[in-house]
Amino acid sequence: MRKHPAKDVIDPDMLDRLAALAVKVGVNLQPGQDLLLSAPVEALPLVRRIADHAYAAGAGLVTPLLSDPEIALSRYRHGQDASFDRAAGWLYEGMGKAFDENTARMGIVGEDPMLLAEQDADKVGRVNKANSLAYSPARERITRFDINWNLVAWPGSAWARRVFPDLSEDDAVRRLADAIFAASRVDGGDPVAAWEAHNATLRERSDWLNGQAFHALHFTGPGTDLTVGLADGHEWMGGASVARNGVVCNPNIPSEEVFTTPHAQRVEGYVRSTKPLSHMGSLIDDIRVRFEGGRIVEAHASKGEAVLHKVLDTDEGARRLGEVALVPHGSPISQSGLLFYNTLFDENAACHIALGQCYSKCFRDGDTLDADAVASRGGNTSAIHIDWMIGSAEIDIDGVHEDGRRVPVFRKGEWV
Ligand code: ZN
Ligand code: ZN
Repeated sequence: MRKHPAKDVIDPDMLDRLAALAVKVGVNLQPGQDLLLSAPVEALPLVRRIADHAYAAGAGLVTPLLSDPEIALSRYRHGQDASFDRAAGWLYEGMGKAFDENTARMGIVGEDPMLLAEQDADKVGRVNKANSLAYSPARERITRFDINWNLVAWPGSAWARRVFPDLSEDDAVRRLADAIFAASRVDGGDPVAAWEAHNATLRERSDWLNGQAFHALHFTGPGTDLTVGLADGHEWMGGASVARNGVVCNPNIPSEEVFTTPHAQRVEGYVRSTKPLSHMGSLIDDIRVRFEGGRIVEAHASKGEAVLHKVLDTDEGARRLGEVALVPHGSPISQSGLLFYNTLFDENAACHIALGQCYSKCFRDGDTLDADAVASRGGNTSAIHIDWMIGSAEIDIDGVHEDGRRVPVFRKGEWV
C-alpha cells in the first residue's frame, strides 16, 4: 500500500482554491479568531492548505483533530465490551467551551461511508448512541448557530472506490476530486463570485417561501404521502447566513438546499427514502416510515434496519423531524448522476428531511429564542440530527396554508 495514494492525482491548484474558499466564504474566519478543524488523516494535504489560508487570514490558533479509520476498526477488533458505550465526552465539552470563546469550526468529510458495514450492528449502534449523547455540548452550539462553521470535502480513497467501484483507485480519486471541485464551484473563473451569485438564488427561494409562510408541506410520490407541518414562526434559510456571533458564513460547501424547521407534533403519513443513507459507517437503504402526530410509529429498511431502529431509540426526539429541505432534481449534484453515500453531497441532490434536533436559527427572531421558546413553537430536541433523502424526479410538493388553500411548490422534482 502506498503512503499517500491520492497525493499525486488530485490537482493541487484546485485543492488550494477549495481551501481558500472554505476559509474565506465557507467559515469566513475573522482576524484573531481561533479555528478548530477536524478531518480524516488522509485529508492532511487539504488540512495544511486550510491552515495556511487561515493563518494568512489572521487566524489566532488553528487546532487540527485527525481521525483514522484503521484505529476505528481496531476498536471493533479488540475493544473490550464496555468500550462500545464510551465516548470522548471531555473532548466534546472542550469543543463546547472553545465555541463559547468564539472559536470557529470546520469539518472535512471524506471517510469511507461503509467503514463499519461488516461490524456487529449492536456494537455500531451502541457506539453511535454514546457518541451522539456525548457530543451534545458541541452540537447544541452548532444547531443554535453560535459560531461560524463550515463543512467541506476531501476525496478520500476508500470513499472514491465506493462511488466509482469500476475504476482503479487513482482514477476513482481523480473523478471524485473533480466532482467535489465542480459541486463546490471552485472549477470556474472566480469561486467567490460564483458563490455570491449562488447565494443570491438561494436567498430568492427562501424569501418566497418566507412570504408564503405555509402551515404545512404535502409531499407525494412513489411510496410517499407525507404532510410535514411547519413550526410556528418558522423561517426558511439557505446558503450564506449570519451566526449569532455576527459572522456571515456558508455552513456547507457544496449547498443547494433551502431548509426550515418542521413542527415536531404535526407530521402525518408515510414516506420512502430515495437514496441510501450512510450513517457513521453503516448503510441504511430503502427506509419506509409512518408518522402519527409527528412521531415515527413504524420503521423499516431493506438494509441496515437494526441500525435504523437503534438510531430511532436514541431518545424521544429521534423519532421526530428537525429539518425539512427543498432541493430541485435539476441541481448540479443531482445531475451528475452520482450517488455519493455522503450526506453533504446527497442531501444537496434531493429534497430531504432530518430526524432529530432542529436548527433554532430557522425561526423568525431565532437568535433571541431560548430552548423553551423553540419547543413551544414546535422545534424538536434530540441528540441526533440525521438527514435522509425523499426527493426525486417523481416528487410533487404543495404548500398548504392554514385555511387549507394549496399552492404548488414542486412538480416532478422541480420548482414550479
Ligand atoms: Zn439539510
Ligand atoms: Zn440537516
